[in-house]
Amino acid sequence: MSVRVRFAPSPTGNLHIGNARTALYNYLYAKASSGVFVLRVEDTDQERSKKEFEDSQMSDLAWLGIEFDEGPNNPGEFGPYRQSERLEIYDEYAQKLMAEGNAYHCFCSTELLEAKKAKAIEAGVDPQYDGTCRGLSADEVSTKKEAGESFVIRFRAPDKGYKLCDHVRGEVNFPAGMVGDFVLVRSGGLPIYNFACVVDDMLMKITHVIRGEDHLNNTLRQLMLYEALGSTAPEFAHASLLIGSDRQKLSKRHGATSVAQYKEGRYLPQALTNYLCLLGWSHPDELDVFSLGDLESVFSIDRFNKAAAIYDLEKLAYINGQHLRKMDDLEIFGRLDTKELECTDKSDEWKIKMVTLFKKDANFFSDIEDKLSLIFGLDVENSEEVAEVQGWESTTSIRNYVGEKLASMDGEYLRSEDLKSWMGELKSEFKIKGKELFKGLRVVLTGRAHGPDLGELVTLTTLTILKKRVSNAN
Ligand code: GLU
Repeated sequence: MSVRVRFAPSPTGNLHIGNARTALYNYLYAKASSGVFVLRVEDTDQERSKKEFEDSQMSDLAWLGIEFDEGPNNPGEFGPYRQSERLEIYDEYAQKLMAEGNAYHCFCSTELLEAKKAKAIEAGVDPQYDGTCRGLSADEVSTKKEAGESFVIRFRAPDKGYKLCDHVRGEVNFPAGMVGDFVLVRSGGLPIYNFACVVDDMLMKITHVIRGEDHLNNTLRQLMLYEALGSTAPEFAHASLLIGSDRQKLSKRHGATSVAQYKEGRYLPQALTNYLCLLGWSHPDELDVFSLGDLESVFSIDRFNKAAAIYDLEKLAYINGQHLRKMDDLEIFGRLDTKELECTDKSDEWKIKMVTLFKKDANFFSDIEDKLSLIFGLDVENSEEVAEVQGWESTTSIRNYVGEKLASMDGEYLRSEDLKSWMGELKSEFKIKGKELFKGLRVVLTGRAHGPDLGELVTLTTLTILKKRVSNAN
């Protein structure tokens, strides 16, 4: 049977990184097994579901490079792909379950149920539905309906245990009595998640359900429903929870939790997908830097980790840096915010040289932008170290020497040969060497005590700026 997997987001907010990870795993599993990846929008919560969230989640998924074979925008033969457009289908299956005695009308009011629940909790008893409407006759039901009493449709939960063989969690046993008769259809006619999900997974011929461990408890109800509908349940893989470094459930306290925030923060989508894949899954060759394309052939459902995955922004930053360095230098330049520095009119050669120099230890575009002041800035770093170097006698000699040399130069940039010959002369004529020479030259030419390779750096800076810096330092 060919693999069919799905991602089933609820459009009630922005795309959460945990859900993006779920989407990725399903996408990769479909790719690795030449299967089909379905997008199903679970929008039956009318109050919280919004089209704008559906749209923003779709654009975030596209940004991450996740594509679907079937969905609302590219329907296949199993549509519609929005649950709000499938209400008649759920009704048909609710009627079937009732006709076969697996579900029933329940007229208990919310107030009554709440009161009973509170009492049960007080008495230390499991607050399951007490079965008041379980045995209503067809006549009783019609009378109540005719009287306009509102009702829900409730599932008659079998009193037996269930076993799940999960690809991540292994064998999971749900003993009898864990859940009572649960609601399938709300009083307004809208299905609840577990019911709609099972009907859809069944009709859409989903073979594998890969989702977060937080859905493990739903699986019991879903297994019951597959059985009642006479259908075989798909295979399940419940990927481990994402937690913060304090081992608490991942939340806003731990940093950005929506994909949109990473997009705004100019993270690279290929880095985010790479990192998310590593949270709960491992590469067969233990690699930790890869592209989605690299995984398409090696992804397997049996390499999930059971332990909760710690969300670590430092690791994500490291992976972002790894992907940044793989990018084309001119493309990197194009992504930098250089407006204020007016360096867009520089030659391609200059741009490549600058990016090559600064990307070496950069994780983000902003790390490169932050370094641009090393090329354009006229200020002198206010630090003890710079003040100390400035106070050396040798530095005064260097400053005078360099000032004279620069004054006699024209052209736009210093060449690395110029710097080399200066150093030679400073050594032979002025007897300045070692730390005094290197630190002194750096402070005089850049106004900083540290930085990247001086030869490369100063040849990116215009002579005009170098001249100003040297005279500023006087
Ligand atoms: N709509 C559910 C969610 O967003 C889907 C859960 C599932 O994959 O079954 O959590």
